Amino acid sequence: MNKQKKYGQNFLTSTSIAKFIVDAAEITKTDVVYEIGTGKGILVPLLCKHAKHVITTEIDKKLHDDATLNFSKLPNLIIKNGDGFKNEPEFNIFVSNLPYSKSRVAIQWLLQKKFSRAIIMVQRDFAEKLLTDSMKDRRAISVLSQYGFDMKIMKKVKNTNFSPRPKVDSVILQITQNYMVAKGLIETVNKLFSYRRKTIQNIAKNFGITIKSDSRLEDIDNNEIIKLAKKISRI
Ligand code: SAM
Repeated sequence: MNKQKKYGQNFLTSTSIAKFIVDAAEITKTDVVYEIGTGKGILVPLLCKHAKHVITTEIDKKLHDDATLNFSKLPNLIIKNGDGFKNEPEFNIFVSNLPYSKSRVAIQWLLQKKFSRAIIMVQRDFAEKLLTDSMKDRRAISVLSQYGFDMKIMKKVKNTNFSPRPKVDSVILQITQNYMVAKGLIETVNKLFSYRRKTIQNIAKNFGITIKSDSRLEDIDNNEIIKLAKKISRI
């Protein structure tokens, strides 16, 4: 797989959309912003203009080195090279035009962080999956994100605003936090969805606990799924 596909390198080319993202983040001079995926750095100077500090991480060494040269004069910027999801900087605002293949990983990573606001760009289909209120279409990631976050679509973004152009359109999502979600709870909700057609009674039995209920996982609401997962993971 080439680097462009492997790392989801579809760079935003629209300065007005870049400005929209930074405005939606409502950054002030007390905020520390973390960006995953520096890319060619379209967001970097705008973020630095508003924030106290910006930390941006890029996995691709060449892009990292170019950004280090291009933005050497920004005093409140730290540019790191590596996997941004394995980096643990302190931040209160998260901004990322996410590589598409990392959207699920990013949501699960963010659920475990404490932050005040996040602005992310994701595939439109993925955002619809996160926000769905259909019990049939929901997935573990929908239940977890609706529990941990408040999410709002701020803007639809056509694929013509990127280079190279991806096949699909994107959306900008604004996220605020309801609860931090523990790793164990995330893992349990994911496991529960592999038994979605079984009865709660049988699922509970698999986890060594007794619950009398003939309902199936696909028939109970999100709150009940979280309650069940907490019981199983003893949170
Ligand atoms: N922020 C830039 C923009 O808006 O144009 C780039 C966005 S591009 C969709 C995603 C970027 O994330 C690419 O530069 C890619 O190399 C980088 N990337 C992919 N996986 C990453 C990871 N795990 N950690 C850090 N950067 C990553």
